[in-house]
Amino acid sequence: MKLYGITGYPLDHSLSPILHNWALKQAGIAGVYLSWPLHPGQMPDFVSAVRTLNVQGVSVTIPHKEAIIPLLDNLTTHARMVGAVNTLYWDNGRLCGDNTDVEAFVAPLRGNDVASVLVLGAGGAARAVLAGLRELGLSSIAVCNRHKERAQKLAEEFGVQCANWEDRAAYGADLFVNATPLGMHGEHEGENPLPPEAFTRRRAKSRMAYDLIYTPRNTRFLAEAEAVGWQVQDGLAMFIAQAQAQFRLWMGREFPEAGARKLLLRELTKRHCHTVR
Ligand code: NAP
Repeated sequence: MKLYGITGYPLDHSLSPILHNWALKQAGIAGVYLSWPLHPGQMPDFVSAVRTLNVQGVSVTIPHKEAIIPLLDNLTTHARMVGAVNTLYWDNGRLCGDNTDVEAFVAPLRGNDVASVLVLGAGGAARAVLAGLRELGLSSIAVCNRHKERAQKLAEEFGVQCANWEDRAAYGADLFVNATPLGMHGEHEGENPLPPEAFTRRRAKSRMAYDLIYTPRNTRFLAEAEAVGWQVQDGLAMFIAQAQAQFRLWMGREFPEAGARKLLLRELTKRHCHTVR
């Protein structure tokens, strides 16, 4: 029986155990994916346990994504670029850290001809988004944030532009990415990171709203964009793609995207945080 799991705190709402245990079953692999809710001070002991028990793969989430880095033997380029790790895997006896959010964010954009983008938010997710966008080679990338200093710092680090949060509605980008919790189930549900005047029908077909949030799947941001004819992308595809990339690192094979989406939509409906589009 092979051992996998997730560490973070809290983990009550994590969909990863449901998804990975389903994927293990689908692939016919004798393994189990557990949940390890741990506090930051427990990370050194946890990583020792991963090594001693030969845990085959670990998902890492908030608040350990940065703190775990010094405890590892090596990092991938994506983990270095983002400065955070969301996956542990073994490579020739070395415990390595990757950040699969980078390729997961980019996956739904491949083949799409957006040229300019404005990223809303400058937290951990925005770092993975900017790393991914840079690889796509878009002609214009900008970031804005409620607290501007944070966006400025990120813009300098990733070599992109910094826009004013107050000017975001008039910003003429093809793609708007919501990397804030505005619209998420809970205290921010029903909020929109973009003011109403941003949603114009002008060049609607070449515009796109991409929300990293997936609870609910159809956020107000996406609903208002769709209503004026923009393309929309919800955060569930990114969530599934980051788990698919983990599974690939651990097992060397894929799990089916369509089945995973169906499974998670069913689970989100059960948890009453999925509004049907
Ligand atoms: P984070 O590090 O806490 O950053 C949050 C960002 O949102 C900051 O830039 C913050 O601005 C901004 N923000 C928070 N409250 C705001 C408000 N009331 N008004 C304006 N801006 C506000 O969080 P994160 O890890 O980057 O996550 C951001 C979102 O991405 C979350 O909704 C998360 O669920 C989602 N996410 C999805 C996936 C996926 O797989 N689909 C993966 C990762 C994250 P300040 O700096 O001004 O505070």
